[in-house]
Amino acid sequence: MAPGSISKAPVPETESFDAPAVKVPSSTSSDADADVSTLSPRVQALIHQFEHLPWFERTFGFKSPIVWFNVYIAVVEHLLAVYGVIVYAPKATWPSWIFYLVYYLFSELGVTAGVHRYWSHKSYKATLPFQIILMCFNCISMQNTIIEWSRDHRVHHKYTETDADPHNALRGFFFAHMGWLMMKKHPQVFIKGKNVDMSDLRNDPVASFQERYYLRLCLVFTMLVPILLPYLCWGEDLMVGFFVLFAFRYVATLHSTWLVNSAAHLWGGKPYDGHINPSDNMFVCVASIGEGWHNYHHTFPYDYATSEWGPSINMTTIILDLMATLGLVYERKQVSQEAINRVRRRLGDISSVATTNMLATN
Ligand SMILES: [Zn+2]
Ligand SMILES: [Zn+2]
Repeated sequence: MAPGSISKAPVPETESFDAPAVKVPSSTSSDADADVSTLSPRVQALIHQFEHLPWFERTFGFKSPIVWFNVYIAVVEHLLAVYGVIVYAPKATWPSWIFYLVYYLFSELGVTAGVHRYWSHKSYKATLPFQIILMCFNCISMQNTIIEWSRDHRVHHKYTETDADPHNALRGFFFAHMGWLMMKKHPQVFIKGKNVDMSDLRNDPVASFQERYYLRLCLVFTMLVPILLPYLCWGEDLMVGFFVLFAFRYVATLHSTWLVNSAAHLWGGKPYDGHINPSDNMFVCVASIGEGWHNYHHTFPYDYATSEWGPSINMTTIILDLMATLGLVYERKQVSQEAINRVRRRLGDISSVATTNMLATN
């Protein structure tokens, strides 16, 4: 297919998620009747931890063991971001604010266009130079390697709102938003995760390169570039670089991604499938540069635009379309309007359709 074209042929209307069940103890899952001895030692150890929670988790009703190191990291990075906004944001020069916006956009694209739409869903094809650009952008966002992020995301789509979903929104807003990163993953995430094929990414040279040098790449793209580049190019205060362009920008990007897992799984319209939790949420759409059409996305995961509204409130789709005109992106998969209408009539929440139409056309 020629560069810049949009493919409407091979996209399934909905994904079929009927992987074989794996048994685990009833105390750790709704699936009962397990043969624990068939599981890996790592998963057996995890099940043991879930069955013997520490006193703090038991006392306060937590379902999972807390990873305290991750809690400390989260607290420190948020304190740095808040301190940066209060003390150093007023001191930032205007070139630094332009840099902030551009670097924020790059960081977001590394998640939305990169690890989400390209590597996790393979919803379009990209030339090697654009793959490398997306990989670098992805390092700015520092949200785990492409391979790990994609594995979690594919498991999330396959087992949405179950114990196997890494950020199961049925466990509440905070867990789905960021709490899941501060706790041990539920054993089901690993058990059911084995049903998810990751061979394509294991053989992906760009994703494998990133995994091999991940910490060094993140150190450069997440921290050193936003601190040193403004200092060297226009004499910005190093403290502004550290607290505003690194710490605050990094935390802001994290929350915009996390909102997709939390807010867009709890609040919004369901015009395409009223039987699932993922929802179309306009606020999340703006915050995450186009990932808030989440009812559409879970219904049609392979659509490169994650929406039937094309570039409407969808900066990521605008950028991908622009890259397609330059020949860097091609074979963008898109669901036909006929298929969308058919699924919407069959599964959609009708009351949400009017709302979504109104919002998208205004
Ligand atoms: Zn989701
Ligand atoms: Zn997705």
